[in-house]
Amino acid sequence: MHRSARRISAVLFDLDDTLLDWSGRVGSWTEITRPHVDNVHDYLTSHGHTLPGKDAFADIYRDIIIDSWAEARRTWESVCFETVLRKSCLHLGLALDQIDFHEVMVAFDYAPIPGVVPFVDTIPVLERLREMDYKIGMITNSMMPMWMRDIELEKYALTPYFDVCITSGDCGTIKPNPAIYQKALDLLDMTPNQALFVGDRPANDIAGAKNAGITSVLFTPPHLNRDLDGVEPDYTITKLTELLPILGKLEEDR
Ligand SMILES: [Mg+2]
Repeated sequence: MHRSARRISAVLFDLDDTLLDWSGRVGSWTEITRPHVDNVHDYLTSHGHTLPGKDAFADIYRDIIIDSWAEARRTWESVCFETVLRKSCLHLGLALDQIDFHEVMVAFDYAPIPGVVPFVDTIPVLERLREMDYKIGMITNSMMPMWMRDIELEKYALTPYFDVCITSGDCGTIKPNPAIYQKALDLLDMTPNQALFVGDRPANDIAGAKNAGITSVLFTPPHLNRDLDGVEPDYTITKLTELLPILGKLEEDR
């Protein structure tokens, strides 16, 4: 069936633990991020800025991220990586106008998380959706700009499948704020009624999709057991392939 004749024309996904399987992550968050934070320290010191030791710098960076995300959960405004870097430098009394923050972000040298890979059915499902002429989007609550997360999409060969990809860091708001979903819909020139959203977190993915008026699908992979906390998804799946019969049923029920 051609896209214009269907009710659902776009399938939007969360990224982490929806398209990417984090169950095999190797190392703690601190262990994974610390070499990148050290890269920032190296960049700033090599450009003549006076910093405390790497441990103290990493502590300041971590505390600013923790505070920023706590604030974001209250306000639904996003955490932005560049802002975190600016706040870290400001805290240390560095002259912000002397720092090229794009260069700092490049020096951070973002990389895919060790042990994280697409689920076995991620690419087959995206391939099938593409064959069926669905638009495909991705919305992630990530402070990183999309050009950094693109490094992962490239590595996992996911890039060609997406018509739109949005990080909350770029958008200015986080899920469950309906504004971030609306941004994706606007870019696809679609209405909420034409979209389906798939994500693993009831409190932001599913609650947000409902806030935006989008049909919601909760993905519950075997390694996760998230509390619904009163949120009621329209559908629940344990494998991404289960999306395909749901899409078929939504057309039959029109
Ligand atoms: Mg997720």
